[in-house]
Amino acid sequence: MTLAEPPMPVVTRVTALLRRPWTPTAFAVVTAAAVGVPAIRDSVHPASWWAVCAVLVGALVADLVPLHVERGRQTWTFSFGDLVMVVGLVEIGPFWTVVARSVALLLALGHERYALNKVVFNLAVTMLEVAVAGLVLSWAEPVRIERPTTWVVLLLALLASAGVSTCMVAVAIAITAGPPGRDYWRATLGPNLLLPMLGTGVGVTILLLLDLTAWALVIVVPLVVAVLLFFRQTARTNRDRRRVEQVYDFARRVEEVSPDEAGLRQIASAVRELLNADRVALWLPPYLDEEPRLVVARAGEAEPWYEGPSDPDDLIRRRAVDPRGGGPVLVGTPRASGEEAAALQRRQASEVLGAPIVTAAGEYGYLEVCDRQSDVVSFESGDRAALDSMLTHVNAAIRQQQLLTRIRYDADHDALTGLPNRQRLAVEIDALLSTEPGEVRAGLVFASLDNYTDVTDTLGHAASDELLLVTAGLLREHAPPSALVARMEGGQFAVLLPGLSLPATERAARRLRDAAATRARVAGLDLDVLLTFGVAAAPVHGDTSGTLMQRADVALLAGHSSGGVASYHPVLDQQSLRRLQLGTELETAMAEKQITVVFQPIVDTRTSDIVSVETLVRWAHPRYGNVPPDDFIGLAEQIGRIGAVTDYVLDLALERCRRWLDQDIALSVAVNLSAKCLAEPDLVDRVRAALRRHGVAGSLLTLELTEGIVVDDSVRNSTVLADLHALGLRLSMDDFGTGYSSLSQLRQLPIDELKIDKSFVLGMSTSQSESFIARSIVELAHNLGLRVVAEGVEDEVTRDLLAEMGCDKLQGFLVSRPLPDDRLENWLLARTGVRSAAPGAPHRRLFVRS
Ligand code: C2E
Ligand code: CA
Ligand code: CA
Repeated sequence: MTLAEPPMPVVTRVTALLRRPWTPTAFAVVTAAAVGVPAIRDSVHPASWWAVCAVLVGALVADLVPLHVERGRQTWTFSFGDLVMVVGLVEIGPFWTVVARSVALLLALGHERYALNKVVFNLAVTMLEVAVAGLVLSWAEPVRIERPTTWVVLLLALLASAGVSTCMVAVAIAITAGPPGRDYWRATLGPNLLLPMLGTGVGVTILLLLDLTAWALVIVVPLVVAVLLFFRQTARTNRDRRRVEQVYDFARRVEEVSPDEAGLRQIASAVRELLNADRVALWLPPYLDEEPRLVVARAGEAEPWYEGPSDPDDLIRRRAVDPRGGGPVLVGTPRASGEEAAALQRRQASEVLGAPIVTAAGEYGYLEVCDRQSDVVSFESGDRAALDSMLTHVNAAIRQQQLLTRIRYDADHDALTGLPNRQRLAVEIDALLSTEPGEVRAGLVFASLDNYTDVTDTLGHAASDELLLVTAGLLREHAPPSALVARMEGGQFAVLLPGLSLPATERAARRLRDAAATRARVAGLDLDVLLTFGVAAAPVHGDTSGTLMQRADVALLAGHSSGGVASYHPVLDQQSLRRLQLGTELETAMAEKQITVVFQPIVDTRTSDIVSVETLVRWAHPRYGNVPPDDFIGLAEQIGRIGAVTDYVLDLALERCRRWLDQDIALSVAVNLSAKCLAEPDLVDRVRAALRRHGVAGSLLTLELTEGIVVDDSVRNSTVLADLHALGLRLSMDDFGTGYSSLSQLRQLPIDELKIDKSFVLGMSTSQSESFIARSIVELAHNLGLRVVAEGVEDEVTRDLLAEMGCDKLQGFLVSRPLPDDRLENWLLARTGVRSAAPGAPHRRLFVRS
């Protein structure tokens, strides 16, 4: 019996020397020399050459057609060496038996390219086996084969020889890998008893037959060979059957692996176990947001340095994944070419099976199986076939894994841009911040596309999608490499900056703003990429994704009013809290008359006659004091309550107008109309009803509209302006010059009047260019037949300039600040000296002294 010792495990330096491959061999040689040589020295005498040759041939056949039994790392090899030994000992004596068996062993092991240390080890053990058997047999001298006592002694000799060789192998294992344990002794016990009995029985029978006639060989030799072949075939069939079962079992195992690295490892381990390989590597190409992956399953614990499988230029891998190739390739040391040997050397393997994997995306992955654990038996065609059938299951398992990965990926990525979504961002933030709570620094920047809704409304979704893609690309390009860029909802993005402090994050946000401030070609137009940024940072502003994101959101709101980049500050929170409260209190504020109106006179430039008053809303809040209209008109628009506010103001304005009429004063009132109101389908009916309710003629009402409506398709396509106009009231274009409309666009709308925005008027007295703008507006408006009002007139220089330009009406602090009802009454009285007129008297003109 021979044993191929296991590969060298890595052990401590002290025992490393002991465990060198030559140590067991040296031990065997020394033992053989000490015990064997004296034992066989006596048996050196001439023997018939044909008998020696017969024993040699028998031994060779026994060695070349052995029965291998694999058990994990070890392989036991059984042969009919016992039979040959019986014949040899009896016919040619121990010395020639040693010679014949050694030559046979050399030929056999050389043929299988055993390492030299193993050959020498096995030679030494052979010599010991024969020597011990010879010693035992010497008790029965002279050997007479027809005597049953000889048979018993022969059996004892073989048992002793088997015992000695088992012990030698055990010592070898103990030296290289530690004591072999009870399993070893149990596994060798059966063959150690059985084979000597069989060998003795058959050997004695053959010798007895040969004593009768040499012709007996004609029967005996074929019979022995046939039995041998039968055993071999049975062993192979058993192995194949076991393999089919294993592949089936394998399929079941890999079907249910998890879609992660552990799952891949399970697949690799399953392949490794099935092929009883030393290690199995599985390499997969990058998929979605995953890097290429290499998992290695190996028999021992340590993960080896292992390069081949992830190198696309590796010879074996290249061959295996070649689409023209026919499945797994096998490269082994005995027949390796120079290049192949180098590829094997890189892996420190003597045999490699490489096979292609096909992923869900149709790309090639690679599976590699290295070295059978047993180094006697090598991979054979059956293993290649088994690997081939396993591949189907491996492919299916990997595709299923990738499908699950895809589903998971889709769940936390934005479909349009492919960026992580809000949910994923939150997970990433929490993962980052939870490593060292309260310590880790990270910056979070929210970026919002200001013109996103405008682009969607005017150019459609395809265009705004394009704009989003461009923006995503810009952010990704200009964000630092370690940043995570995510897409939130609508036109909002986020950039997570691990490791950055608040100031560093602010700098990064400003860099992003500058880098992204560009024009992009979208839907055939050059559009600005207008981004506003809000900045928050951990740990200063919070250390959970929830607070950090909420604070970046608050900062973003502030960003809109502070030049594009704003950082979170607790005051901002209070502001948003205030907004929230104002929103919920709006309704009750109107009911409780916290919300009122003031009136600002508008006078005729030439005559200084008061021609109209503009109604401006005011909110005297019990806690916040006077809340300016800019703070709650936009809010009312956002929460859909602007209609109610408009009705409320209109009511107060017309009521005031009605009272003047009752006093015989025909003073027209102006009311501001938010662009959102024009979209309300019942607006015209409500205005008509309000005029009727207060008994005021349409001609005494002016509605001030903002410029946005000019470019608003829905307003342009509706008849709302014409319908309002048809009520007899005037339409005035407010804040002219701040929007995008041109005067020619105004021509298409039923507008009567134009108000030059106060931003141009306020600077007129000092700036030439501002007064130039005002002058142009006046001229062009007159050409279109529109009246012109200048608002924001604060000084006489401005008033005189406007008068000289021919501006029709003036409004501003120079004339009067907006006044509450009672003070307006006094103001009028002071300038006209008239309180009220007798009913039915003609309306009086009111004069304003300036
Ligand atoms: P606006 O329609 O342009 O109103 C004129 C604003 O200019 C008023 O501010 C007024 O107080 C201010 N103003 C008047 N004369 C001068 C001046 O000589 N110098 C300066 N520096 N400012 C002057 P206010 O009342 O704060 O209103 C702000 C804006 O709020 C208004 O701008 C208007 O757009 C909006 N608003 C006010 N009331 C209402 C309303 O009832 N409904 C709607 N939809 N919007 C309103
Ligand atoms: Ca106005
Ligand atoms: Ca205005």
